[in-house]
Amino acid sequence: MAEVRGIVVVGGGLAGGKTVEALRDNGYQGPVTLLAAEPHLPYERPPLSKGFLAGDDERDSVFVHDEQWYADHQVTLRLGESVTAVDTAAHEVETSSGERLAYDRLVLATGSQPRLLDLPDLDDAHRERVLYLRTLDDSERLKGWLREGVRLAVVGGGWIGLEVASAARGAGVEVTVVEMDSVPLQRVLGSTVAEAFAQAHRAHGVDLRTGVSVEGVTASGQGLRVALSDGSQVEADVVLVGIGIVPDTALAEAAGLAVDNGVLTDAQLRTSDPDVFAVGDVANADYPAVGRRLRVEHWASALNQPAVVARAIVGGDDTYDLLPYFFTDQYDLGMEYHGIADPQRDRVVVRGQLDGAFVAAWVGDDGKVRAAMHVNCWDDADAVKALVGQPLDEVRFTDTEAPLS
Ligand code: NAP
Repeated sequence: MAEVRGIVVVGGGLAGGKTVEALRDNGYQGPVTLLAAEPHLPYERPPLSKGFLAGDDERDSVFVHDEQWYADHQVTLRLGESVTAVDTAAHEVETSSGERLAYDRLVLATGSQPRLLDLPDLDDAHRERVLYLRTLDDSERLKGWLREGVRLAVVGGGWIGLEVASAARGAGVEVTVVEMDSVPLQRVLGSTVAEAFAQAHRAHGVDLRTGVSVEGVTASGQGLRVALSDGSQVEADVVLVGIGIVPDTALAEAAGLAVDNGVLTDAQLRTSDPDVFAVGDVANADYPAVGRRLRVEHWASALNQPAVVARAIVGGDDTYDLLPYFFTDQYDLGMEYHGIADPQRDRVVVRGQLDGAFVAAWVGDDGKVRAAMHVNCWDDADAVKALVGQPLDEVRFTDTEAPLS
């Protein structure tokens, strides 16, 4: 292998921050430069819709490391500077300051962008009341609205929408959630389990409008009026849009890397160019643990994939073998999910009470568990994870008197 002389990491999210950490942890001693379009130190996103938004976590807690750590580990941070082009033949990137930086290995941790709602009918003043939640600045802006009596309309009952609804209700905000499906989270959890979350939101005073889409958003005095497909309207002071994200593949595409729903990588997160890696949301990677390619838009991949990349860069040959994992906190529901199921096809088996603490397992055609999750069963957290990939003994599983493991 040619000598490794310098690594450039593109992206200041968790995947970028963890990549530079993993390089140093794995003994890489050459120059490391991280470029981030935002002016902030690399940070993680889960608190932006949970603890930080709710006012429980300090702002400092979102950062992967403090500034001193980067200095101590000889990592050059170029914050507020984005990469505008990659020249894979020359092994150089071009930055927004017009500079060219040479690399031996490049790591793309460019993440995703929120999918935008079309808003042709709004002037600039009203448009400012339509918020998205992706960045730290977005979270601070939204947090500024979370106070008693404010009317918040949430478009999209996905993870962002429901976590924001929970934080907002905690602050006394009047919340309406608009979701196209008949139950929020149905696509991920199936209707049986998703209904547990819907009930929690209703019980906490959320006006949940399901089976409807947004026809338009118009001005209504200083506020906004959201017109729904069933002819009803929602009056709001502020609208939060959480209708999914799109992987930020522009650089990779322009550089001629193989892209298909994200940057295609092998199980070491190596792209179609052997000197370029992709990690986190943007990587559509081979997942040996599930036997197929996946692009996972969750915290755990951004947290754990960088170690595999760093080892590959210093000559290791291990692959990313972890299962997909995510968690959510909404009201008093703490949930963890391992694996990946297709709830439209796989059969769900539930242990416990859906309106209390429970474990759910999705079983495929072969009788093996594709995914398992729990709500508020923290003593069984390890046993829930261990179910994935194993045949399910349903009698034992559903007997809450019998231990899970
Ligand atoms: P998401 O979880 O994919 O949910 C998007 C929701 O918006 C879905 O319910 C979707 O409905 C709905 N939708 C799509 N287009 C719509 C439209 N035009 N009008 C109304 N509703 C529409 O995405 P997200 O909530 O925006 O979150 C962004 C990303 O961050 C996701 O990848 C998510 O996994 C991640 N995230 C994860 C966590 C966590 O792990 N706890 C927390 C926050 C964010 P359909 O399902 O019917 O398409």
